[in-house]
Amino acid sequence: MVIIKKFDLAIVGGGPVGLFAANFAHLHGLKTILFEALPDIGGQPKQLYSFKRIYDIPAYPEITGVNLITQLAQPNFTVKTSHCVKDIVKNGESFIIDEDFTVKSVIIATGIGSFKPRKFPLSGDSKTSQHIHYYVKNPQDFAKQDVGILGGGDSALDWANELAKYAHVSLIHRRNQFRGLESSVNKLQSLKNVEILTPFLPKEINLVDNKLQIALKKVGSDEVLNKTFSQIIVAYGFQANNQLAKNWGIGLTGTHIKVSFEMKTNIAGIYAIGDAVDYPGRVPVIGLGFGEAQVAVAAVMRELFPEKTLTIHSTSI
Ligand SMILES: Cc1cc2nc3c(=O)[nH]c(=O)nc-3n(C[C@H](O)[C@H](O)[C@H](O)COP(=O)(O)OP(=O)(O)OC[C@H]3O[C@@H](n4cnc5c(N)ncnc54)[C@H](O)[C@@H]3O)c2cc1C
Repeated sequence: MVIIKKFDLAIVGGGPVGLFAANFAHLHGLKTILFEALPDIGGQPKQLYSFKRIYDIPAYPEITGVNLITQLAQPNFTVKTSHCVKDIVKNGESFIIDEDFTVKSVIIATGIGSFKPRKFPLSGDSKTSQHIHYYVKNPQDFAKQDVGILGGGDSALDWANELAKYAHVSLIHRRNQFRGLESSVNKLQSLKNVEILTPFLPKEINLVDNKLQIALKKVGSDEVLNKTFSQIIVAYGFQANNQLAKNWGIGLTGTHIKVSFEMKTNIAGIYAIGDAVDYPGRVPVIGLGFGEAQVAVAAVMRELFPEKTLTIHSTSI
């Protein structure tokens, strides 16, 4: 085995929280490498809602997902995209990552894991699948089309509201109540080019003349509604997959990583932050993840340089 790269710190996951941690680690003088499984850094704000405005990032009255990631993508650390970390192996005082990288500490910021949307349950051939989407990167791709959106959470509501600017939208949910913001539901109900179909479940799908014909069954009755869409967007949510962390020997709480107040996992030298972790009272928001990143980097500094007095404030570094 040949170790070719040495770093003080590896950050696994290039979402907003991993990116901020890498910036903060750089401020503290740590030679840092960040691994991102996808070809693009950015995590959920870049992949799932790049066009949406975020209103709760400290010091930004509002900022879109894509602009937030641009701000965080500073050239202060080494980034390896399209690299899904598979192995983290303890080697004396260090860790070896995927046989090639040796690092003194690791911060896991894998968020909801590798993005794995809950799949649309009805099978179709490859031509049908081309009309079934799990992400909306550019709402204008759906302009002037009939779009069915399936789901009842925030993503379904957000996408419906955004796409309604360009397309005719049908929002289909198996319950009468939605799980997202009431204001989003109210807005959708006020729009003329939006129809809300509840409580319906898709039962059959066919591609006819390049359009999707979907049979929707009313929940609790035999009524079937046949609808035709150019495209459908499936917003059934994402499965958290921290199976890899489990393989690395990291203790979980449910499907999330268990951490101490210093964001330490059960393995000395490995920390975890952001949506990958859980503890009583945690809320999955970016601002909190940024704070966790600062706590974790401070803990890394104390561990790697116990003789140093840690300078906490960036104004004094
Ligand atoms: C529709 C929607 C709207 C939202 N709105 C807001 C909002 O208004 N305000 C707010 O604060 N939060 C909002 N959130 C939540 C916010 O996006 C998350 O809390 C935040 O993205 C968590 O950041 P993260 O860096 O921990 O994880 P993520 O953003 O999930 O990023 C994790 C990254 O790790 C990568 N990864 C996973 N496994 C590996 C591996 N083994 N090796 C390498 N890379 C790996 C993934 O590919 C991903 O890029 C919203 C979320 C959604 C879905």
